[in-house]
Amino acid sequence: MSNQQLKEVGLKVTLPRLKILSILENADQKHLSAEDVYKLLLEAGEDVGLATVYRVLTQFESAGLVHRHNFEDGHAVFELSGDTHHDHMVCVDSGEVVEFVSKAIEELQIEIAEKHGFELIDHNLVLYVKKK
Ligand SMILES: [Zn+2]
Repeated sequence: MSNQQLKEVGLKVTLPRLKILSILENADQKHLSAEDVYKLLLEAGEDVGLATVYRVLTQFESAGLVHRHNFEDGHAVFELSGDTHHDHMVCVDSGEVVEFVSKAIEELQIEIAEKHGFELIDHNLVLYVKKK
């Protein structure tokens, strides 16, 4: 399965790539920083350096296998692509990332773009939040 995914996007199957892909697929959190991936690999007893993790994630991003979200404060996380559209909120204290979809917001954005004479092509909405 993972072998196939790598080949489909034109990446050679290597052990680090397979291991990192497996981490992204199986972690509890869907949004992981390079450091998170590195820590999970360490916990799994895998010997993959942080520089390799960065390199592989960047290759995955170029290949369209993952999306990179650059949140404020240089907080960058990766998530597997292929998911349906959703927006994110990020806790400014813990860095926790929550996904949400609001039909009302989606429709409103289309409406606003149209009011300005545009057709909405894409959007990127991030709410910065704090636990109450
Ligand atoms: Zn997401």
